[in-house]
Amino acid sequence: MDTFLPIAYVHDQFMPFTEAKISIATHALHYGTGAIGGLRGIPDPQNANQVLLFRLERHCHRLSQSARFLHYDLPSSTIKQVIVDFIQKNRPTRPFYIRPLVYTSGLGIAPRLHQVEKSLLVYGLAMDDYLSPTGVSCRISSWQRQADNSMPLRGKITAAYIASALAKTEAAESGFDEAIMLNTQGKVSEASGMNIFIVRNGQLITPGFDQDILEGITRDSVLTLAKAMGIPTIERPVDKSELYIADEVFLTGTAAKVAPVKRVENYTLPADRPITERLRTTLIAITEKREPQYQDWVDTIAFN
Ligand code: PMP
Repeated sequence: MDTFLPIAYVHDQFMPFTEAKISIATHALHYGTGAIGGLRGIPDPQNANQVLLFRLERHCHRLSQSARFLHYDLPSSTIKQVIVDFIQKNRPTRPFYIRPLVYTSGLGIAPRLHQVEKSLLVYGLAMDDYLSPTGVSCRISSWQRQADNSMPLRGKITAAYIASALAKTEAAESGFDEAIMLNTQGKVSEASGMNIFIVRNGQLITPGFDQDILEGITRDSVLTLAKAMGIPTIERPVDKSELYIADEVFLTGTAAKVAPVKRVENYTLPADRPITERLRTTLIAITEKREPQYQDWVDTIAFN
């Protein structure tokens, strides 16, 4: 059972998580007309009265853009203020994950985005490693990643997660840790809740924005880091067969961080993963504010 943070935000106010309820007739619950965010933070190792939050601005900006898809005008600055207040009220003492949701909060029938009330809610939970840092096994899913002309995939639209859920459960029930989804063109898109990278001949390769991927913030961080490290990077379509013969494969996400892949289907990948490890450990150091060059990626939120 997850350990939820004690205070939640719903109906424009903070209240105990156990009392934060919405109606069974909530529009978004029935039609998938919501969009989620996902941020990660840790207690500051140097100061027990504050936490470190990774790329707060970017996460708020992406959620604000997702809200625009829902015809909900919610400025990034408003989301940011709610999240800062949320942290100050909860005073987390363990690594945590914050889950904001923008959604059609009105009650009633008929899928639409106009003439229906929208709201923001936020809750949080304690979270350690989401995927094993020592390597995960992946199945190629029989479920396709949706196409961007079937729903907006640049934001974390809740309806899109049916494909993720089908893929993840299919993988788990056949003995794998994670699923990799191909897009409607048959090219590698992403995992159930992570972007994907491969390394071939010293080059870091990841599917581009035209491959029906989420505009992942960890993906962006890893690309920026790799370029700064002098690792050649390219965003291009990736074939399924490249996963089998790659030198390294890893997944990126706020929950998963940089998660190495040890096996794809029945192809075991090399145990030596120098580029993955370098990126993984540097990213962790950045989130702990140990990398001066990337201090502006980490917000310090002090408790009042
Ligand atoms: N793809 C999907 C479908 C996701 O849900 C996520 C986030 N959980 C990601 C990729 C990774 O995005 P980020 O690095 O911004 O967390």
